[in-house]
Amino acid sequence: MNTSLTTLADRDVAVVGAGKTGAAVVRLLQLHGARVHLFDDAPLEKLRDGLAKNGVVTVDAVRMKAGGLDAAAIAACEVVVLSPGVPRSHVGLQKAIAASRPIVNELELAVAGFDPKGIRIWAITGTNGKSTTTTMAGAIAKERDPQAFVGGNLGTPLCAAVADGLTAGTAESPRLLVVELSSYQLETLHQFPVHAGAVTNLTPDHLDRYADAAAYYATKARLFALLTKGSGISLNAADAESRKLLFPLVKNSHNACHFDVSTGKPGIEVRPDQLVARPFNVQISLKNPRIVGHHNRQNAAAATALALLSGFTAHEIQRGLDAYAGIAHRLERVGEHRGVVWWNDSKATNVDATITALKSFDAGVHLIGGGVGKGSSYAPLVEAARGKVVTLYTIGQDAPALGQAFAGVVDVIACRDLETACSKAASRARLGEHIVLSPACASFDQFRDYGHRGERFRALFADARGAL
Ligand code: ADP
Repeated sequence: MNTSLTTLADRDVAVVGAGKTGAAVVRLLQLHGARVHLFDDAPLEKLRDGLAKNGVVTVDAVRMKAGGLDAAAIAACEVVVLSPGVPRSHVGLQKAIAASRPIVNELELAVAGFDPKGIRIWAITGTNGKSTTTTMAGAIAKERDPQAFVGGNLGTPLCAAVADGLTAGTAESPRLLVVELSSYQLETLHQFPVHAGAVTNLTPDHLDRYADAAAYYATKARLFALLTKGSGISLNAADAESRKLLFPLVKNSHNACHFDVSTGKPGIEVRPDQLVARPFNVQISLKNPRIVGHHNRQNAAAATALALLSGFTAHEIQRGLDAYAGIAHRLERVGEHRGVVWWNDSKATNVDATITALKSFDAGVHLIGGGVGKGSSYAPLVEAARGKVVTLYTIGQDAPALGQAFAGVVDVIACRDLETACSKAASRARLGEHIVLSPACASFDQFRDYGHRGERFRALFADARGAL
């Protein structure tokens, strides 16, 4: 329990960042009786609207400082709650840090309200597959605790769920919290007791924010600092960086379960149709059609490891994975039109995610890629595309770089935007082939976010089908 958070009534608390998470923090703090001061870069009107839209009832009681972070005013508060998008290194926070103000994360604020003995936390991080693994683990968790919270970096902020519970006066509060942690959240988390953790994999990402891949991996490894005594840790034995950097961090006081181990080794073996968890004497069948491709079977294995380490039965895990309903924008089968299947993998915002998507296809891929590149080389993607991708349709800011990398290997059509790419792909794809939006890039040059890009793709599919 974070002692600075035990009594917040009548204390001045700074909330830095006014997005969906910031608004949830404001709601929860108001329920605790704190005096809330909100800081953000956006103009005042936008802040007020955002709070009202996200369920803050007494907007007038919030003292707001818009148009930038006022370092002195933040330092004048007793506690600072950071939204995940704002790094600790932000200049506006330095006075508060110098004045030794507790700087806490949204998740820490939320868990401070629970009886620590009454909850168990599963935390999932890694470069790719976090949301999918969290959703799968959540489906399993709900088999035992129907109130289980599933969210974090994905979906609902934990503060919003706690505030909803307090407002509704719900007697039943979750006993299991299944939380996705981004590297940004891990940077500021200190007092967050993790009972079972999972790292899906480690590959270079966010090189715009970190000095190098090693610095990014070190942030992911902070998960180990949150593990409680006797906790479980689920690690990917097929991932070279995990083996090199994370395996040595496992202590005697942890229970480790490796997944994607080779045949006959202890851990969880990932087969095309089942998971075999040798030390637990458990076999889980992977008959849910939404668990497509080896990467999703790995995600299912990571989730299974969390559950096995927490004493779940094979039956509970099987039922949970069978109930897994899929997750939008992650190699989501949009539909079929004239014998061509359209796949929305808009969430593939880096090279590795797109390479992974391509592994799920044998041939006949019309790949739509491009947007804001993350700074890593496209060469491995070109290799993964050889023999599988028929044509690459490039869009967005990184279109020239992507086109250049693929030149001479596959046909490249420069399309500039998603509309042109879909229309050209629809006219060229043949029976039995696939149109795959898996951009290997972020979306911010042309879309609000990856969700917006994926929805546009779905709409373009509907248009194409309607145009029959
Ligand atoms: P995250 O939350 O870590 O961004 P998601 O579960 O949202 O990950 O999946 C994002 C993309 O990453 C998917 O579209 C898929 O292409 C790829 N992916 C998912 N799981 C894995 C995995 N285990 N290994 C590698 N790539 C994966």
